[in-house]
Amino acid sequence: MENKQDIHTDLVIIGAGMAGMAAAVFAANRSLSGVVVGGAGAFEYASGLLDLWALTSPETGFCKNPWQALARISKFYPSHPLLKIPETNIKTAFDELTQGLAQGGLTYGGLPRENSSIMTAFGTAKPTYRFPLTMANNVTALTDKKPLLLLDFQGLREFRAKFVQQVLTSTWKKINIGAVDFPQMSQRSELFTPLMAQAMEAEQVQDKLVAAIKPLLRDEQFLGMPAILGINRSQDILNRLEQRLGIKIFEIPTSPISVPGIRLKETFRKILRDTCITRLPDQRVISAAHSPDQGFVLETGTPSGTHTTRIQAKTCLLATGRFLARGLVADRKGVTENVFNLPVDQPTDRKNWHGTTYFDPRGHAINLAGLATDENFRPLGRDNTPVHGNLYAAGSILAGQDWMRTRSGAGISIASAFQAMGHIASHQAKTSA
Ligand SMILES: Cc1cc2nc3c(=O)[nH]c(=O)nc-3n(C[C@H](O)[C@H](O)[C@H](O)COP(=O)(O)OP(=O)(O)OC[C@H]3O[C@@H](n4cnc5c(N)ncnc54)[C@H](O)[C@@H]3O)c2cc1C
Repeated sequence: MENKQDIHTDLVIIGAGMAGMAAAVFAANRSLSGVVVGGAGAFEYASGLLDLWALTSPETGFCKNPWQALARISKFYPSHPLLKIPETNIKTAFDELTQGLAQGGLTYGGLPRENSSIMTAFGTAKPTYRFPLTMANNVTALTDKKPLLLLDFQGLREFRAKFVQQVLTSTWKKINIGAVDFPQMSQRSELFTPLMAQAMEAEQVQDKLVAAIKPLLRDEQFLGMPAILGINRSQDILNRLEQRLGIKIFEIPTSPISVPGIRLKETFRKILRDTCITRLPDQRVISAAHSPDQGFVLETGTPSGTHTTRIQAKTCLLATGRFLARGLVADRKGVTENVFNLPVDQPTDRKNWHGTTYFDPRGHAINLAGLATDENFRPLGRDNTPVHGNLYAAGSILAGQDWMRTRSGAGISIASAFQAMGHIASHQAKTSA
């Protein structure tokens, strides 16, 4: 039997990835009521690190100070979304979001104005702006290079301590490796980090792991392991293990499906629970229209069609991501936007999508395609004015940016959501006054 629902609200956010969820948190903090429609975005694939910006220029390497680099990006990315946002707002956006996440039990750290380097499961150093505190000792260990024990788990393919050791050995004098059976899973031929993290929530499993690690410890000062220290209480679990083992412990982000990404998704769910924001995580927007008397009218539904919802909202924020999330769709004729069929800023011809060299450090024109917006992140029509006064866009769907190349995924999402939501809140305050 079909379950139909009708919702009238001030704000609808389409897409529940980093941009949609950050927008939802900012909306809740401004006492706006609204609905978020859509699944969890790229969270389960992402590292859980919050990048702001990490490239000095397309041709050169990573930068230490993202703010200095951002001050120069107009040279390389003249219509970049971050150029529309004052530095203080970008900073406030990160602070407000990470404070919200901390209230949900997921604490982030980082230097006031600089990127930190995190050891990855490939043994490389990834620059990032904010990292989960369970990776704080990762940053210190990578800098100090004091004796380290890297922990392998039998049957876990996503992490190989030996591989990390080989990559780092020329600069790091003492990296020992040790392997243990993960408690209660020794009969499995293959392990997965999300399952291990769920199991780690139990103190009995933590204690068994401590007992397995103890005989491996010698004179090391740090213990590094893949990110498996629980889903909901990772910091408490890390503290408990450190206390029992008497060593500084850190997590290393692994490839998808990523536990730190799942923690982010779960924490957003938790912090939005008691707010004026309703979530429809199993539904997608099927059709959307706007009329002067009704505002935005969206039809949403589950893939099976068992639940459908008609949403009527005064304001809409589009955070539907790029090609993977199907916010943008590419075919032979070009790139289109999937909800409102908004004009997409893109190369004039498909043959200009890619440069001639695959690894061109400047990237490819198709990666800059997306929605052009005004200063307040309202998508522009062909006449270069906002398509609608109350329609906004945030995140990776925006034109003029190449988040993957510039390591700015979360930064663009968080800062554009903040800027758009600030404008929405002040507009709603004016109209209701
Ligand atoms: C493998 C991987 C690793 C990453 N690592 C990092 C990292 O280390 N650091 C970092 O800062 N960032 C990282 N990111 C980027 C980051 O996770 C986000 O992808 C980025 O911030 C963009 O977020 P978004 O919300 O714009 O888009 P997405 O996360 O793609 O979310 C868009 C959402 O919109 C939904 N949607 C689309 N169409 C509809 C519709 N019609 N109705 C309802 N919903 C719809 C999609 O289902 C999806 O849930 C990584 C991403 C990936 C894929």
